[in-house]
Amino acid sequence: MPCRTNEELQNLVEEAKREAPAGKVADYIPALEKANSSDLSAAIFYPDGTCYSAGDIKDQFTLQSISKVISLALALMDRGEEKVFSLVGQEPTGDPFNSIVKLESHSPNKPLNPMINAGALAVTHLIAGVDVTERLERLLCFIQDLTGNHSITYNKDIAESEFETAFLNRALCYFMKQHCVIDEDVEELMNLYTKQCAIEMNSLDLARMGCVLAMDGVDPLNGRQLIPFHIARICKTFMVTCGMYNASGEFAIKVGIPAKSGVSGGVMGAVPGRFGIGIYGPALDEKGNSIAGLKLLDIMSKKYSLSMF
Ligand code: GLN
Repeated sequence: MPCRTNEELQNLVEEAKREAPAGKVADYIPALEKANSSDLSAAIFYPDGTCYSAGDIKDQFTLQSISKVISLALALMDRGEEKVFSLVGQEPTGDPFNSIVKLESHSPNKPLNPMINAGALAVTHLIAGVDVTERLERLLCFIQDLTGNHSITYNKDIAESEFETAFLNRALCYFMKQHCVIDEDVEELMNLYTKQCAIEMNSLDLARMGCVLAMDGVDPLNGRQLIPFHIARICKTFMVTCGMYNASGEFAIKVGIPAKSGVSGGVMGAVPGRFGIGIYGPALDEKGNSIAGLKLLDIMSKKYSLSMF
């Protein structure tokens, strides 16, 4: 049985933390640059409600790309598989998360999957609601249910900082608008997307959300099916094939669990049928994954035989 004390997890965190100096915090969103590159916190959430944590668990961080899994679940619940996958593909790209190249070179001109920025923007565009406020509110309520934490909101400074500087994401949107993948106002979509990416929580909240996915969409504490089974399955499959950007193949071999990272340094893991993992380590490797977070997952996977393959 993996990790049943805080001390045990703390020891693994200490070991993984040694990797942090080799990484660098993201700075293309100016507000993310303020993070402390040596931080590493982690939590494990079991379906029986017990949880273990290590590092400064009070540290809050923004979801960034981790939010793409949740917006995908909501868009699939709102619009159904046929509509969502008519606009976004299901294949890994092998390119960086913000790459524009395959949008033009691939035919039809739709994003290859929902975990790259282009695909995530197209998915966020599908979240139902009369305006940005209602769509954001629906996403926040969904995340509050998934974490069991009803105080979760978004970080205004980080949302604004990204909104002011997201020229590449705007370019992706305009390209997709030209090719009828999206049909809404680009500034409205950027407003919603940057707030979605700035939704903030700690590692324990993230571990609980990972646990719901690990348990096929069921809230382990009250038995509610928060995400339909077939949608949780789709989300986990994308986490395996595309969740760690263009390092997903290597991660599947080394660690072998559905996981999703974000440029804030967060990583959400879902060990199928067993538990959820939440990690925050803002020093990133060259592909944008938490460098100490990856090390920690590697250590945990080997020590506790977590790989599903
Ligand atoms: N908000 C970030 C962006 O769109 C999310 C990217 C990420 O976490 N990889 O650039």
